[in-house]
Amino acid sequence: RRLPLIAGNWKMNLDHLQAVALVQKLHWALKDAKHEAGTVELAVFPPFTDIRTVQTLLDADKIPFSLGAQDLSAHDSGAYTGEVSGQFLAKLDCRYVIIGHSERRAYHHESDEVVAAKVQAALRHGLVPVICVGETAEDLEEHGASAVPVRQLTAALNGVAAGADIVVAYEPVWAIGSGQAATPEQAQDVCAKLREVTAAAIGGDAADRTRILYGGSVKSGNIAGFMREPDVDGALVGGASLVVDEFAAIVRYQK
Ligand code: 13P
Repeated sequence: RRLPLIAGNWKMNLDHLQAVALVQKLHWALKDAKHEAGTVELAVFPPFTDIRTVQTLLDADKIPFSLGAQDLSAHDSGAYTGEVSGQFLAKLDCRYVIIGHSERRAYHHESDEVVAAKVQAALRHGLVPVICVGETAEDLEEHGASAVPVRQLTAALNGVAAGADIVVAYEPVWAIGSGQAATPEQAQDVCAKLREVTAAAIGGDAADRTRILYGGSVKSGNIAGFMREPDVDGALVGGASLVVDEFAAIVRYQK
């Protein structure tokens, strides 16, 4: 069975001092929780400028959170002002990197091709890409829920080797930050299709191992419903990941 993954995408929030405070409080709130017993994995995705600080804190205090970045460059090094290489992230013990978040697709014009190149970059450096896909409200109306996410994931996995270690996040754009989450049934329906796409690209065994997350207005009050679905293996949480008690309650979700 897949280890559930509860991931906090901080987006552009918290400087490195605020990051220390949040991680320490979260660790205290979750002492004795099941993530410490290895039945749920918790990951945080701070801004780049916080990563070294959070890495040092996790290491010094033996805090069992995984660490990830919110983006990376498609290139490994060189004249790319302002970009951050996957090799730097790997050196800071990042296990994961979010790729293709809808905010990057919308505000930074990241195409399916750019997303695919970033997935390759992550895998080259031993990082697990958290590949984000999801339809806008317009897409939903015109094509239904799954057509755009299926297209985006198919493109992102183009050229990925069989057996690769990846995470997929289904985040309907209309559900992000809106307070209007998808229903567990809607999430299950799309996540099941995304598992089929994953199986076609990297093989059935790897697809069985792949965590597929739901994201978009996840709260302590709705997490359990998502986690009951067979193809939903966790959550990518934005706003609620910045509130200690709320995020701790999400991590402690009851089936
Ligand atoms: P919210 O949880 O704030 O809706 O954000 C979801 C998200 O975009 C996580 O990547």
